[in-house]
Amino acid sequence: MATQVTNYQCPACTGPMHFVGESGRLECDYCGSSFSVEEIEKLYADKEKKAEAAFAKAGEKEAAISPEEREYLDDGSDWPEGMKAYSCPSCGAELVCDATTAATSCPYCGNPTVIPGQFSGMMKPDCIIPFKLSKEQAITALKNHYKGKRLLPKEFSDQNHLEEIKGVYVPFWLFDSVVEADVMFEATTATTYTEGDYEVTETSHYDVRRAGTVTFEKVPADASTKMPDDYMDSIEPYNYGELKPFSSAYLPGFLADKYDVDREDCAVRAEKRTARSAVDEMQSTVTGYSSVSVQGQDVRLHPGKAHYALMPVWLLSTRWQDKSYLFAMNGQTGKFVGDLPVSKKRALQWFGAIAAPMAAVIAVIIALLG
Ligand SMILES: [Zn+2]
Ligand SMILES: [Zn+2]
Repeated sequence: MATQVTNYQCPACTGPMHFVGESGRLECDYCGSSFSVEEIEKLYADKEKKAEAAFAKAGEKEAAISPEEREYLDDGSDWPEGMKAYSCPSCGAELVCDATTAATSCPYCGNPTVIPGQFSGMMKPDCIIPFKLSKEQAITALKNHYKGKRLLPKEFSDQNHLEEIKGVYVPFWLFDSVVEADVMFEATTATTYTEGDYEVTETSHYDVRRAGTVTFEKVPADASTKMPDDYMDSIEPYNYGELKPFSSAYLPGFLADKYDVDREDCAVRAEKRTARSAVDEMQSTVTGYSSVSVQGQDVRLHPGKAHYALMPVWLLSTRWQDKSYLFAMNGQTGKFVGDLPVSKKRALQWFGAIAAPMAAVIAVIIALLG
């Protein structure tokens, strides 16, 4: 069986290698040797090409099977829809993963595994931001997130509820565009002065117009249905200064997915955001008034290039009383978001502490009235 999967093995000892953010190199788990991304790329270029070809061939074979034929094929390869099976080149075990998986690790031998065919041809990302922060740093960030959360159940922060932690390269589309905007604002200024016994407030109304073009570069929208959009939006921004041309040598040791939301669908989301930002940008130049509101707008967006990129995200999941909580950390900047369980008892205590003095105040007022 032609292999469609590449394991990145240490050229010195054949041990499993993974990409390490701090050093920006591939390190061997066994002998401690380390190699630059370029060195590994060169070594593996051939292997990867073969794996890509095998992947394409397997795809053709699959497409050539009619649905009726498929019914009769009972070779153990009919995995539930959306799943795909590969064999691990290190230990031979069968890896079953999502059809979009591009990098994972073998659950049996632990070898980081890359499926190069997922990222070849049209599906090849243009760029990648490599992981910079480690798993340990993600765990520390979670602990810091717990700290100072007064509503957190004590048992929760006492125990280690971390269930799973994964470093994932999330597929993103980054959109360039130019926006022409013509926006009408209503602005007011108010001055208050005393005239005899009266306090007079004078309000002046102004029509303010701003028109111009705003250029946007690489507005991100995550292209994976598996990732909650709000989490992905909240851990932005990424520092694009560290965008690198894509290489699969950044993947070993992490999970990676190819996109399953196409460019057009992501563009709708990015365009809404871009248009809003353009109007905000115009509004930020309307200064010196007591209030400013948008009265009318004419926004025209001219789409430019779209870049396909992979961004580093640490995902942490915890369980508490049969509920799962998900946290995400930007694998480059460390920005952290997530849900925390809130204990009812604690919330009551917390609010009780506020409620008591308030009740006291009301009692005093009543007493005074009476
Ligand atoms: Zn080694
Ligand atoms: Zn294996």
